[in-house]
Amino acid sequence: MAAIKKILIANRGEIALRILRACQAMGIRTVAVHSTVDRNLKHVGMADESVCIGPPAAARSYLSVPGIIAAMEVTDADAVHPGYGFLAENADFAERVEESGFTFIGPKAETIRLMGDKVSAIRAMRQAGVPCVPGSKGPMTETAGSARQTARDIGYPVIIKAAAGGGGRGMRVVHEEADLLKSIALTREEARSGFGDATVYMEKYLENPRHVEIQVLSDTHGNAIHLGERDCSMQRRHQKVIEEAPAPGITPEERERIGRTCTDACKRIGYRGAGTFEFLYEDGEFYFIEMNTRIQVEHPVTESITGLDLVRAQILIAAGEPLPFTQDEIRFQGHAIECRINAEDPETFMPAPGQVTGFHAPGGPGIRVDTHIYDGYRVPPNYDSMVGKIIAHGENRAAAMARMRVALDEMVLRGIKTNIPLHQRLLADPGFAKGGTNIHYLEKLLGIKK
Ligand code: ADP
Repeated sequence: MAAIKKILIANRGEIALRILRACQAMGIRTVAVHSTVDRNLKHVGMADESVCIGPPAAARSYLSVPGIIAAMEVTDADAVHPGYGFLAENADFAERVEESGFTFIGPKAETIRLMGDKVSAIRAMRQAGVPCVPGSKGPMTETAGSARQTARDIGYPVIIKAAAGGGGRGMRVVHEEADLLKSIALTREEARSGFGDATVYMEKYLENPRHVEIQVLSDTHGNAIHLGERDCSMQRRHQKVIEEAPAPGITPEERERIGRTCTDACKRIGYRGAGTFEFLYEDGEFYFIEMNTRIQVEHPVTESITGLDLVRAQILIAAGEPLPFTQDEIRFQGHAIECRINAEDPETFMPAPGQVTGFHAPGGPGIRVDTHIYDGYRVPPNYDSMVGKIIAHGENRAAAMARMRVALDEMVLRGIKTNIPLHQRLLADPGFAKGGTNIHYLEKLLGIKK
């Protein structure tokens, strides 16, 4: 077993703090790395050591592979936790970490590479028996004629997606043949400039699906378990706004069946660590769209209903330990909802960084707040606008929603604009209260034309 006594946290904000807390609870020493604008981050002050790794621009700090490896060397860290975003799904980084003799808390580099390219991920999942969206079965390298044929075979509408896409970008829906070639060319160009890889592929555009994803944990001893599903259908611009677990209406049999499909796939590809299989769910069927090979923003809803600490599990797996629980020991209790709190204009959704002049977190039974902000903290303009998450757990969905409503009202966050009014509106919305809304629900509610 590779003993892990000191972990370098290669991230910032709420997830860096979340990882730091898990390390502290396990008696593991911590190293925070930060950019010059992030000296005052909460976890930087709490970590055993901290290293400034560069200027505010992420490309020169949080995305600097040599900078982070150097910080590991200087501080004699054993392992690195990448969090989400930044280098979390960068296979070259994982490879460099391991080549330098450190432990990467995540899957093997080859797995990250396989899953990072959505075309190869879908191919591997098809082979592993995971149901996928009907599609081009490979990159769109064909001639104009065969692209048309593929789209006809699949049936309009279709969606053109960048193989290297992420964060809800690099996708274009095509409703009719007249727009097909232009859309492929445009998406290809976006993919090239946005992700450095012009590969695109085609999928059937499902018109009313829900986004339902399965959380897995897989160790290096051949054990793989699933922790049920999360519903992340409340989206704006393909980005999640509210997540919940379990997904309304999914039966225990459906959960068991799709969960087993995912754990079988994990065993087949030798998956290591925590991961998420993302599916679209329509008319009782699951269709795989991609796998995230890291901890996700929405992991706390799963922690709330299972009582487990997923970051701790990631660290144990990286240390070579067998999973400390079996599938039979996993129990789902009640319902959990997460609201992502963004520093943004509630009307225009434009990021709204600035100085926090007052902050009081909500509390009480079933309420968890994961945030790095505090009174006087200045949200810098350089990074993602998410400043925290509120997670409400209750004995059932209605109870979780009731607690969330109270928490949103109780939260005091002065000085910056946030999307709290949007969450309050959604928590009062009869459609959301019913449960099981699809991925277009929020944009329709907001009057955004599709
Ligand atoms: P990203 O990696 O950018 O998050 P995903 O492939 O996970 O991209 O898709 C993000 C979201 O885009 C999904 O949750 C869904 O809302 C929408 N989407 C993706 N593929 C399809 C599809 N084939 N049909 C309908 N919607 C889709």
